[in-house]
Amino acid sequence: MLKTNRQRLQETLTLFSQYGATEHNGVTRLSLSEEDILARDKFKEICESNGLNVTVDDMGNMYATLPSTTNNPPIVIGSHLDSVIKGGRFDGVLGVLTALEVVQTIQDADIKLDYPVTIVNFTNEEGARFEPSLMASGVLSGKFVKEVMLASKDRQGITFCQALRESGYEGSEAHRLKEAKAYVELHIEQGPVLEHYQKDIGVVTGVLGMVCYEISVDGESNHAGTTPISMRKDSMFASMNIISILRQKLKGLPEDLVYTIGRINATPNIHTVIPNNVTFTLESRHQDPHVISQVEQIIEELPKEIEQCHVSTKKLWDRDTVHFDAAIVEAVNTSVDDLGYTKHKMFSGAGHDAQFIASYIPSSMIFVPSAKGYSHREDEYTSYDECSKGADVLLHTVLKIAKAEVSLADSLANQKTP
Ligand SMILES: [Zn+2]
Repeated sequence: MLKTNRQRLQETLTLFSQYGATEHNGVTRLSLSEEDILARDKFKEICESNGLNVTVDDMGNMYATLPSTTNNPPIVIGSHLDSVIKGGRFDGVLGVLTALEVVQTIQDADIKLDYPVTIVNFTNEEGARFEPSLMASGVLSGKFVKEVMLASKDRQGITFCQALRESGYEGSEAHRLKEAKAYVELHIEQGPVLEHYQKDIGVVTGVLGMVCYEISVDGESNHAGTTPISMRKDSMFASMNIISILRQKLKGLPEDLVYTIGRINATPNIHTVIPNNVTFTLESRHQDPHVISQVEQIIEELPKEIEQCHVSTKKLWDRDTVHFDAAIVEAVNTSVDDLGYTKHKMFSGAGHDAQFIASYIPSSMIFVPSAKGYSHREDEYTSYDECSKGADVLLHTVLKIAKAEVSLADSLANQKTP
């Protein structure tokens, strides 16, 4: 079987981990920052020196294309080069660099495909500098309005528009990703499941739907020393009661449902004052929209009055489950089998550009294990062996989509390259 070059992939990953390197082996490479621009420049340089044609669209998305002699639409592979603050060396960048490795392997083996292969680097996937996340793929897929995105500001008050302009990576709308044969994104799992089951590859069938509510409990502020317990309207203890009702009821739903109270604020948040308001979010994810609607029902049926406090709920937003293209998922699945690697079929609990691109291009994803499930932290880790297995699966998925027959001679040719 034709395989990617593990040594070269390791070297490229090591090279890119310098851009925004942090003290504890992680990276801070916020979108369109100095560090991101260095990584973009290097990506462009490597692609061009390999004879790829690099273009940039009006959202700063980069495309590096290995041409074919046909007029067929491209097979697109890639992910994002930006990171969160003190993120890891694998999130996003691994998808771009395994895509690069796949293209280099195809070139080394001198395989002529009937489809161009395009490596994509999506701008501002993380949303860590400019909200929201998935910004550029959101604009491409018509989920977000470009003008609104351009006005998004970072903490210094710099707009996305200004940062894009100054980066030198503001390209033309004509270069946007429109038609494509397929989009395949390799990514670290960012969760503990593959490691737990000791599997090499996650065959990703979709992205979980989710819903996010804000729940607000109103009581009355008063002096913490002078007000007898029986005469209080304490929103903190009332909200604790609401949270335990939620927990009890949510436990009755399917056990693969996930739910999180990730933000909680007490007002006025002073130790000598009984809080008059506690507001918290409840975010929940599941593949089955029926289960999500059961979660909504539980929230909406919460008592409106508890411990003399008033309870109100507000749905902040929701997102439907995305099911990836069955044929592309199958191409990933059989590639894993052909290579003799182990696999686990799974949904992605995290959001990815692929979920937006899937709305207009047949898409899927490939996951590789995350040690201890850690991600968005400096000690995020995936071994180079696991990374290269992922790259091999991406390679064969591309070849399958292009229906390219790879002969033994091709794989021998590959082995000769350093
Ligand atoms: Zn990512």
